[in-house]
Amino acid sequence: MTAVPLAIILFRNDLRLADNPALHYAISQGKKILPVFIYEDHFDNGNEANFERLGAATKLWLHYSLKSLSESISKYGSKLLILKGNQLEVLNALIDKFENSISSVYWNRRYEPHHIKLDTELKEFLTHEADENAEIEARGQYLEVKSFGGNLLIEPWELLNKQSKPYQVYTPFSKQYFHLFEGSMADRIRPLEYKLSADNFLSKEDISKIIENAGNGVELQSLESLCSIEDLNLRDRGEENKNTKNIIPEQYHPWVDKMTKYIKAGETKAREALDEFIQTNSALSYGEKRNSPFLKGTSQLSTNLHFGEISVRQVYAAINNLDSGKEISENKAAIGAVDFPLSKAKKYDYLKQLIWREFAHYLMYHFPHTVNQPLREEFKHFNWRSLDDIQAGSENQNANKLTAHQMLKKWQQGETGYPIVDAGMKELWETGWMHNRVRMIAASFLVKDLRIHWIEGAKWFWDTLFDADLANNTMGWQWVAGSGADAAPYFRIFNPTTPSERFDPDGVYIKRWLKSLQECSVKNIHAPLASGDLRLIKLVQDYPARLIDHEIERKIALAEFKKLRLKATS
Ligand SMILES: Cc1cc2nc3c(=O)[nH]c(=O)nc-3n(C[C@H](O)[C@H](O)[C@H](O)COP(=O)(O)OP(=O)(O)OC[C@H]3O[C@@H](n4cnc5c(N)ncnc54)[C@H](O)[C@@H]3O)c2cc1C
Repeated sequence: MTAVPLAIILFRNDLRLADNPALHYAISQGKKILPVFIYEDHFDNGNEANFERLGAATKLWLHYSLKSLSESISKYGSKLLILKGNQLEVLNALIDKFENSISSVYWNRRYEPHHIKLDTELKEFLTHEADENAEIEARGQYLEVKSFGGNLLIEPWELLNKQSKPYQVYTPFSKQYFHLFEGSMADRIRPLEYKLSADNFLSKEDISKIIENAGNGVELQSLESLCSIEDLNLRDRGEENKNTKNIIPEQYHPWVDKMTKYIKAGETKAREALDEFIQTNSALSYGEKRNSPFLKGTSQLSTNLHFGEISVRQVYAAINNLDSGKEISENKAAIGAVDFPLSKAKKYDYLKQLIWREFAHYLMYHFPHTVNQPLREEFKHFNWRSLDDIQAGSENQNANKLTAHQMLKKWQQGETGYPIVDAGMKELWETGWMHNRVRMIAASFLVKDLRIHWIEGAKWFWDTLFDADLANNTMGWQWVAGSGADAAPYFRIFNPTTPSERFDPDGVYIKRWLKSLQECSVKNIHAPLASGDLRLIKLVQDYPARLIDHEIERKIALAEFKKLRLKATS
């Protein structure tokens, strides 16, 4: 065993070696790194209402992301130690196994309310001082435990408004960000620079020795045994989660196969995706193309960012440096094709999206109850269609005599009769990702046209999105529902047909995902059955009838929202 003090680096949603503050700190202190990932109990068994359990798509991506991190670490002659169980117990047992050679435990912070709780308990436990009544050994005497900010640009507690309260409006929040980055916090947007070598890591051989000696309490796992595709319980998820029960059941296994094709996990793939975004000029035309779901006009980095395969700082810096000439020389393909330097406004089109991500985490930190409750109290009383009431003849049926439950399923399956909504839901089911503009339209349809609680939509996204992220998902749904910070006003009820005509004018996106509308003309594609033309109806006969009439539902929703307002002001 090495004489150099060892530092455990806990990897979580920071599955990368570059710009990793915990890792950087360990090597700056001359420690040897023992890289650890814990597949925590709550990933499978946690409270579903708090989104503690991982969704199926998340588990699938995680498998490949861990594989990639393992491979990167093995290039340094070391090994990612994968453990399973309760974080605190597993780490405690692991430290015991190393006797006194572990001197530090470092990690980058997580911001989900349940993770803050677990990590606070872990820190307290590992740093507690000797107490004569304590049954467990006090580690605080020799263990240094530190957490770092590696997943956000600014930690949520560092920023308050002029009234010393958390911001609840995006524009002043983002202005403050840009202001700080041009001044006192300029260092926050510079990725850490360091070189790793085999000397920085505990060797694979040393780790293997420990594995052989590991007995009680440390359940060491190989990646394959920990979360092989077979172990993901995808076939069982219907039983665990009412939402997904019997959704296209025969496709559970094909679901894994097709979804796997879209996975670009790991640090190298994330960097390649960022480079491609820059080199194909997409970063420069982001403002013009970001609302066109038929184009690849956005970065599609959300999943890489969620798993921390690339840091938000690396992405921010790459785009921000586009006008300083730094990235330009590295990305010759871009030269000549566009005007440099990139204007501030163009650059900010994209950077603002990263600040939305920051805002979402900020809100989740300051208002943790909002992961499943409305930020605006009055929305607790909104008259959602009840999913409990599935009796025929109930008032929850719509004109087609469907219960709320059946309507939810139609939405999940992309069979609402509104092409842009259905195309989006099929894209999600097929690829594990959905364009932001379409997320907004599909979410609005569920919440305002079907009047089904946003939490049902958030659960479905949680299970099927690769980028499922508690902060971003919560903010997205609360925004659409009108119940969150800086949310869409209650009276803004998207007509699902109008944005379809605006953002997918030729129906290219719709045709990509809806096979039954292939023969439909551009003129009719946004509302194929509305014309009443029998010839046309024959052409699209496999396409479902509209689940609801938007105009009728809109009026009902507006009336319900008005009641809320009256309640709030009375
Ligand atoms: C109902 C709803 C649910 C959503 N759920 C999620 C989710 O679970 N996970 C998730 O990452 N995003 C979510 N979003 C936000 C947004 O749709 C995605 O981040 C975006 O579509 C990802 O594509 P991209 O990487 O190409 O984004 P780009 O347009 O290239 O943006 C760059 C990055 O900025 C961040 N970002 C962009 N838009 C937003 C936004 N509105 N809110 C927060 N961050 C943003 C993302 O990290 C994204 O990767 C949701 C939006 C809505 C309306």
